[in-house]
Amino acid sequence: ADHSLDYPNSPASMDWHAHFPAFYPPPPQSNQDIDMEVQKKVEFADIGCGFGGLLIALAPMFPETLMLGMEIRVSVTQYVSDRITALRLRCRELENQSTGDTDVQEEANEEHKDGPDEGKLTKTVPGGYQNVSVIRGNAMKFLPNFFERAQLSKIFFLFPDPHFKARKHKARIISPTLLAEYAHVLRPGGIVYTITDVKDLHEWMAHHLSAFPLFELIPSDDLRDDPVVEQIKTSTEEGKKVERNGGEKWVACFRRLDDPVR
Ligand code: SAM
Repeated sequence: ADHSLDYPNSPASMDWHAHFPAFYPPPPQSNQDIDMEVQKKVEFADIGCGFGGLLIALAPMFPETLMLGMEIRVSVTQYVSDRITALRLRCRELENQSTGDTDVQEEANEEHKDGPDEGKLTKTVPGGYQNVSVIRGNAMKFLPNFFERAQLSKIFFLFPDPHFKARKHKARIISPTLLAEYAHVLRPGGIVYTITDVKDLHEWMAHHLSAFPLFELIPSDDLRDDPVVEQIKTSTEEGKKVERNGGEKWVACFRRLDDPVR
């Protein structure tokens, strides 16, 4: 339940070092000494990231971009966190193999022994997964406590829970009330990616996003050159399941418009 969740009072009070040690110095320096204006911040947020497949796929594609998954289930969040730790260690191990640093190798072997794919990694990847992390949280609450206004350039809603019954529609992660929060954390020009195998949910998300004044549907022609679109279809665990079952996938992406001039 939510009462066990910790929320930072503001994005600046988050311990980002714990998530991105290669990008943030350890506290206490992190809050006082670094210039938060120039500090690199999380730009991609995967809402309801599940087992983390998208983040793992995007991390080496955008090695200089910080990305964060948000997931409400404790065990699933822990799984993603372990997965990232193992991948980071594996990359360090591979980098150190030539220099013969065996301590790191042993540590990595211990860590990634039960991971799904990290043991198979045979060469390091750009960024070494230092740019990706996960947080446990309810994305339907307090999102602005984690991200500043206009901080994000991409926000993902991949195969969100459908909540089929009409009385449960308010539990949907795309809803008229939540769209204002998503628009707040997304910068003008930023993109909302949605995909689902539930046609009714696709229509619901597309309808509400289109109706919201700060979002505009991106025509599929304009998405052809976006390498991220392929990843939202194929890289997540849910996307793979739909694939195996021969299900259909509906994609809809929206651009965050400029704030109206007042
Ligand atoms: N996006 C992943 C994928 O494509 O494989 C997972 C899809 S799964 C059907 C939906 C996920 O959203 C679940 O892991 C669920 O725990 C998570 N979730 C549901 N409501 C949430 C919320 N309010 N905040 C964060 N995560 C949530």
